[in-house]
Amino acid sequence: MKHTEIAKILSDRKLIGTETTVCGWVRTFRDSASVCFLELADGTSFTKLQVVIDKSAVKFDGECSRLGAAVAVTGELVKAYKGDGVELNATELRLLGKCPLEYPIQKKRTTLEFLRSIPHLRLRTNTFNAVFKVRSVAAQAVHRYFHERGYYYVNTPIITASDCEGAGEMFRVTTASWNAKASSEEEYFKNDFFSQRAGLSVSGQLEGEVAATAFSKIYTFGPSFRAEKSNTTRHLSEFWHIEPEVAFAELPDIIEIAEDMIKYLIRAVMEECPEEMTFFDNFMEKGLKDKLNHVLNSDFAVCEYSEAIDILKKAKADFKFLAEWGADLQTEHEKYLTEQVFKKPVFVTNYPKQIKSFYMKQNADGKTVAATDLLVPGIGEIIGCSEREADYDKLVSAMKERGMNLDSYAQYLDLRRFGSVPHSGFGLGFERFVMYVTGVENIRDVTLFPRWVGNIM
Ligand code: ATP
Ligand code: MN
Repeated sequence: MKHTEIAKILSDRKLIGTETTVCGWVRTFRDSASVCFLELADGTSFTKLQVVIDKSAVKFDGECSRLGAAVAVTGELVKAYKGDGVELNATELRLLGKCPLEYPIQKKRTTLEFLRSIPHLRLRTNTFNAVFKVRSVAAQAVHRYFHERGYYYVNTPIITASDCEGAGEMFRVTTASWNAKASSEEEYFKNDFFSQRAGLSVSGQLEGEVAATAFSKIYTFGPSFRAEKSNTTRHLSEFWHIEPEVAFAELPDIIEIAEDMIKYLIRAVMEECPEEMTFFDNFMEKGLKDKLNHVLNSDFAVCEYSEAIDILKKAKADFKFLAEWGADLQTEHEKYLTEQVFKKPVFVTNYPKQIKSFYMKQNADGKTVAATDLLVPGIGEIIGCSEREADYDKLVSAMKERGMNLDSYAQYLDLRRFGSVPHSGFGLGFERFVMYVTGVENIRDVTLFPRWVGNIM
């Protein structure tokens, strides 16, 4: 269909005075004695286009003025009566698709909870338009950031036989029938599609290391799957994962990269989505833009895990879980550190080895590993990061301590046999980043069709 997108109309002053056709959905309709006003959205811009209809001159189907109706409007673009925008003086309205009264998006501001129950329609609201614009801009910026710096973009397998952490949170991939007969677990998997147990990858890291020890700098940007039953505002069963892996980088190097990347992404979103960010600042998180500007203009804090435990022990806060050296930080601890103590993003470094993964570089103290989590206000962890153990013997002993099957990690171990180098990487949860920059509090509201335990709409 020949038409002009609203984003184009609003940004190109040269179109004023011309005749054009605009297509979109009716967002509001106001009627007065001689004229009526229709706000039209086509999703290409946050701001909608005001259409002015002179009732004595333009006859149109009443269905055209219903909320949610799809219409094509032809008319002359003129300077707005008020302000310095543009509006369309309609000469013809054509109904493309009518929208009956039971259309669920009626009030201007419906709750996010309610909108979660209509994931196929909620994208037509201002909030979701803004969220997905930011998400799209941030995704492009991720690629730009790494591409500009010479990283290879690699795609690691989604179906995998290895469980990155050696933990049991993987979704299984199978074609075996529900009542497949087998006399043992081994036989069951032998008869399955891949002749062994397979699942959806929880992380592309292990394969990322393979690529980084050939190309030096790589990143992945794809989905990861976690079958953990955590019913929280920051966990999904399927999320998008950004995982750079860098050869010849030690922990301080990768920390520098992570901070630089986060700032780059924030800057991109603020520059490319000014209207959306103002909207979030007004309606989602007061002071959001100030918060982000402060982040851009200051260094992230760095704090040793041991120091963090000391701070938490002395804290005058009512924690549900006790902070104790050797225990993992709970979300409440993470939030306290980043929100109350540092008041900005903070890298907590050098965690006890027993609470972290086998592949992390063992520090000289024999007790900690060169790992860091980046914690941000409002969310807690958004990045999990570490220098990887590059020493064959140390890696093998960490795996044995955890009772892991060395045979299934033969390729991974080979990286430590053939030209092993120090290398580091991290995983950023893309949805958590989007939450952080938009102020949206629930991860289910930054994902088209969120999946979590018991829910796959
Ligand atoms: P958490 O402690 O918050 O459950 P994690 O330590 O299990 O996270 P990692 O394995 O370190 O997570 O994954 C790297 C990053 O991926 C995390 O910092 C987070 O941003 C993101 N992430 C992990 N699990 C999820 C999930 N279930 N949903 C959304 N994002 C996730
Ligand atoms: Mn982590």
